[in-house]
Amino acid sequence: MNEKGCSEDTLFEYLSGKKGEDMNPSRILSSMCTIPHPVAVRAHIMFIETNLGDPGLFRGTSSLEQILIERLGNLYSLPKASGYATSGGTESNIQALRMAKTLADKKRPNVVLPESAHFSFKKACDILCLEMRSIPVDDDFRIDIERTKEAIDDQTCCLVGIAGTTEYGVVDPIPALSDIAVDSGIFLHVDAAFGGMVLPFMDDHTPFDFALPGVSSLAVDPHKMGMSTIPAGCLIVRESESISSLSVETPYLTVKQEFTLSGTRPGAPVAGALAVLEYLGREGMRAVVHGCMKNTWRLIDGMGTFGFRRVVTPEVNVATFLPREIPAPWQVSWTRRGHLRIVCMPHVTAGVIESFLEDIGEKYA
Ligand SMILES: *Cc1c(COP(=O)(O)O)cnc(C)c1O
Repeated sequence: MNEKGCSEDTLFEYLSGKKGEDMNPSRILSSMCTIPHPVAVRAHIMFIETNLGDPGLFRGTSSLEQILIERLGNLYSLPKASGYATSGGTESNIQALRMAKTLADKKRPNVVLPESAHFSFKKACDILCLEMRSIPVDDDFRIDIERTKEAIDDQTCCLVGIAGTTEYGVVDPIPALSDIAVDSGIFLHVDAAFGGMVLPFMDDHTPFDFALPGVSSLAVDPHKMGMSTIPAGCLIVRESESISSLSVETPYLTVKQEFTLSGTRPGAPVAGALAVLEYLGREGMRAVVHGCMKNTWRLIDGMGTFGFRRVVTPEVNVATFLPREIPAPWQVSWTRRGHLRIVCMPHVTAGVIESFLEDIGEKYA
């Protein structure tokens, strides 16, 4: 840190130079985040100083968080939802496993999840000292149900299913996982970080939400397909007792107990996330999701004409192909198995897809 500060002009010239080094968003085909919706940005700025970690000081903001959880609960067939706004899928998954571990109270607890699970589960298992039992996926990259049953034992505290996998965009057979959860009494967490803001707005999809009696908790990230500002995740739980099992005493705050992972928590992205849902409504979200799915299929068909073979039929807006080199400056990503992966987020418009396909055509046609 310098002894003397600098002028505002110097400061912002410097910052804008750094911002200029970031990638042009319209070339980013690899990210599950997108450009936030303008109403999210406006709401975010409006609530910029709010801290949900001390809710008694921010009653209005805190009620927005409750309303957000209620809206999402309704979207996922749970009119009386509990939960809270997290920093994203990672925190939601850590907290879900923490709940499952606390409630089950086993000596050597293990978690049974698909090998396609997001790497946040590895972090969660490390932090919580849980044995991670990774179940192989089938040819369509969904968890194998027979192998899942074999892996469960009396020390299993949590079962995890993914609704919209990060790498291949498929949905695990959550109804079958729910049956297992009901039969065995094991906590079932659904990671819908990505798919949670996609599947409810499609005409048809694999059931994944609280309408299935075995589902105990669900993670969804408004900062992905919800077009909110970052960081906005939500953890939704069926029983309020599950989440209160995480409460610790908080002597010097306006509330006496806290079940969240972070202490100080931003209200701004919560206002941003709710703003988008209220402004667009189901109708508006359906239009966004239909647009992204249409672009995904245009991409898959277009790539097919240049010899790029699709790996799997996705259920959300993630397309994967057998690997081939991609021309600059396009930013694509690669799965753990080496497949080419493209996420058709709202900023990846029909025009962006066409210009990408043109570049692919120039190289491969
Ligand atoms: C993105 C993602 C996560 C992690 O979410 P962050 O917001 O990056 O912490 C977890 N699970 C799934 C399925 C995801 O797609």
